[in-house]
Amino acid sequence: MSRDPRFDILFEPVAIGPVTARNRFYQAPHCNGMGRNYPSPMAAMRGTKAEGGWAVVFTELADIHHTSDSPRNVRLWDKEDFPILAPMVERVHEHGSLAGIQLAHLGFVSANLIGRETPLAPTARHSYNLHPASARAMDRSDIRAYRGWHRAAALNARAIGYDIVMIYAAHDMGLPMHFLSRRHNKRDDDYGGALANRARLLRELIEDTRDAVGDRCAVGVRLCVDDLGGPGGVTSDGDGAEAFALLAELPDYWDLSVGKWPDDSATSRFREEGFQEPYIAFARKLTTKPIVGVGRFTSPDTMVSQIRRGVLDMIGAARPSIADPFLPRKIEEGRPEDIRECIGCNICITNNHFNTPIRCTQNPTMGEEWRRGWHPERMPARTTQDRILIVGSGPAGLEAARALGLRGYEVMIAEAANEAGGRVSRESRLPGLGAWSRVRDYRLQQISGMSNVSLYLGSRMGAQDVRETGSSLVALATGSHWRRDGVGRQRIDPLPELAEARILTPDDIMDGVKAAGHVVVYDDDHYYMASVVAEKLVADGCRVTMVTPGATVARYTEYTLEIGHIHKRLYGLGIEIVPNHALDAVRGEQVVFSSVYTSAPLTLSCDAVVLVTGQAPDDRLLTALAGMDVEDTSMRVVAIGDCRAPSTIAAAVYSGHRFARELGLDLSDSPTFTRENVLPAHHPGA
Ligand code: ADP
Ligand code: SF4
Repeated sequence: MSRDPRFDILFEPVAIGPVTARNRFYQAPHCNGMGRNYPSPMAAMRGTKAEGGWAVVFTELADIHHTSDSPRNVRLWDKEDFPILAPMVERVHEHGSLAGIQLAHLGFVSANLIGRETPLAPTARHSYNLHPASARAMDRSDIRAYRGWHRAAALNARAIGYDIVMIYAAHDMGLPMHFLSRRHNKRDDDYGGALANRARLLRELIEDTRDAVGDRCAVGVRLCVDDLGGPGGVTSDGDGAEAFALLAELPDYWDLSVGKWPDDSATSRFREEGFQEPYIAFARKLTTKPIVGVGRFTSPDTMVSQIRRGVLDMIGAARPSIADPFLPRKIEEGRPEDIRECIGCNICITNNHFNTPIRCTQNPTMGEEWRRGWHPERMPARTTQDRILIVGSGPAGLEAARALGLRGYEVMIAEAANEAGGRVSRESRLPGLGAWSRVRDYRLQQISGMSNVSLYLGSRMGAQDVRETGSSLVALATGSHWRRDGVGRQRIDPLPELAEARILTPDDIMDGVKAAGHVVVYDDDHYYMASVVAEKLVADGCRVTMVTPGATVARYTEYTLEIGHIHKRLYGLGIEIVPNHALDAVRGEQVVFSSVYTSAPLTLSCDAVVLVTGQAPDDRLLTALAGMDVEDTSMRVVAIGDCRAPSTIAAAVYSGHRFARELGLDLSDSPTFTRENVLPAHHPGA
C-alpha cells in the first residue's frame, strides 16, 4: 500500500546544520529505566525505533560530569562511558537514522548521592526533593570548568559517532535553565541580573559546542520557554520568549518544551494532545532554524497541521514512539489505522523511578526487544495445532487474541457483555480516562482483519459451555472485581462490621449506581481509581470526603507524574482529604476510622462509602473447570490477566501477550529473559 499524499510532507527530509534527517519524525529523549544499568536492552530499544522509521533517535539525559550523577540516566563523563553508548549509536545507524545525545548537567537537581560531590547551582540553595543537602553557588572558575566539561562531552559524543548534540535547558532541571531563571539565579555578576546576563551561559555553551563539533554534528538546544510557574520564572510572554529571541539563530535547531516534567509529560487525564502549542507558537517568527516540539502526537493529521501551520518542523515524540515504535513506517506504508496510539497513562515513566526497565500499556514488547527477543511487529509462526478459546475480551483477552491471530492460530473469544474491552471500556467512561479506550480499539481494529479470530459478544460461558467448544486450549481472561469487604493494603482480613447497604465499590460506580449526599471515598488502593471516582461523585452532585491510611491519596501517582495534578483537581472540587486513617467499621450512617499512628478514633457520618481497596480475581470459571474432569477432552486451561492476578491494564496486556507469544515454547525451568550482569573487575569474563 502506498501512503496517502496528504502525509507526504511528514516524509520530507530536514536539514539540521551539517546533517539531514530523512523525515520529520524525531524520537525525543526519554527515560527508560535501562540506561547504563541495562545497556544492551537500551540499545535494542532505540534501534527498534530507528527500524520503525524515526529519523532521529535520542538518548535519555546524559550526565556530562561527575558533579551531576543522577542514578538512572546514561553518562558521558569520559571515555569509560563509550562502551555503554556506542551500541545505541550503531543500532540507530544500522537503520539509517541519526543518533542524538542530550548533554545534561542537572545542577542542584542532582543530589549526587553516588559520588558525594557537592551539587552546583547559580546561587546557593537546597538540593532537590527531600534530600537533606544543599548546592553551592558556582564561582567564575566553576563556570569556566563547567564549559570545559560540556565541550569535552560534546567532543566525546562526536567521537562515539553521534550526529546530533543537544544542550539541555529544560524542565527546570538543567544548569543552563537554572541560570536563565530568575527564580534560581540571584547572582549579581555578569551571569546574573539582566536577561542577557542570565542567558550568557547558554549562549556560551551553544558557541562552545558549535566550535567543538559543529563541523560534523548538528547542535541543538532543548529549551523550556515557559516553566508554567507564573511571573518570577521563565514565561513565554516574558523571559522565555526574550531568551529565545536573543539566541534564535545560534543553534542548528530548537527543541522547545513547556513546564516541568509532570507538565511536559502530562497524562491524557490532565492535558490534551498538542497542549504546548500556545506556549511555543511565538518562536516561528523569530528563527529560521528548524523547531521540534512534543505533544503526545499520534494523529498524522494533527502532525501535518503542526507542520503546515509552521508551528513545528519536526514531530517530536517520546510516548507515541514507545507505544508504537513503528508509527512513522505505518504512515509511510499507507496504514495509519494500524498505529498503536499512546493512551497517555504514564506507566512508561513509573519504572524509571525504580531503575528498572520501561514498560508500556499499549506496547507489551517495550523494553523486551533484547532480553526476550520480542519484536513489536513480528511474532513467531504457530508451532502447535491448538484451537484456542479465550474467555473475556478485556485487555488481556484482546491482546492474547491479537497476538495469537498474528501467529496463525484459530482463536475464538467469548465475551459475556454486549461490548468488548472489559475494564478498559468501563474505566474509559470515568472522568479524564477517555483515551484509555484506545487499548480496546487498537486490538479490535487489528483482529477485525483476521479471518482466524472470531469474537462473540453476549456469550457468558459456564464450564460446560467451555467444554462443548471442543477447544484444546482455554485462556481465562475473566478479569477481577473490586472487593466489598475492606481487604486492601492496610487490612488483610475482612472488616468485622459492614453495613452492606451503605457500601459501594468502583464497579458499582462504573455500573451506573448513583450515590447522593455526603460520600466517603476510602483510598487503600493508592493509584488513580479513588481520585477519578471522587471526581465523578462531585460531578454527580455529591459532597465527597476522601480518607486514606496513606500520607495522602493516590500516592502511587507520584510515579506517573500525576500526583500534583490530581491534588490540584481534588482540592479545586472542594474535596476534603483526611490522611493517615485506616477504616475500622461501617455502622449504619457512621464510618469509623482510627489514626494509623495513635489509634485515636475518627467517626464520619455519611450517606455512602466507596471502598477503593483491593481487587479479587474473577476465577469462578477457573475453579469450576478445575472441578470438572477435563482429562478426556485433553483441554488445557490457563488464567491470564487480572483473572490470574489483578494489576494494571499494562500488566493485563503483557500477560495476554506473553501467553500468546510463548505458546508452544518449552520455557518451564529457565528465566525467560537474557540477563546482562555487571561483572566484578577481576572476574575472568570481565
Ligand atoms: P483483564 O484486565 O484481565 O483483561 P477485564 O476485567 O478487563 O480483565 O475483562 C474481563 C472480561 O471477561 C469482562 O469483559 C467480562 O465481561 C468477561 N467475562 C468474565 N467472566 C466471563 C464468562 N464466564 N464468560 C464470558 N466472559 C466473561
Ligand atoms: Fe503511552 Fe501509557 Fe505506553 Fe506511556 S505507557 S507510552 S503513556 S500508552
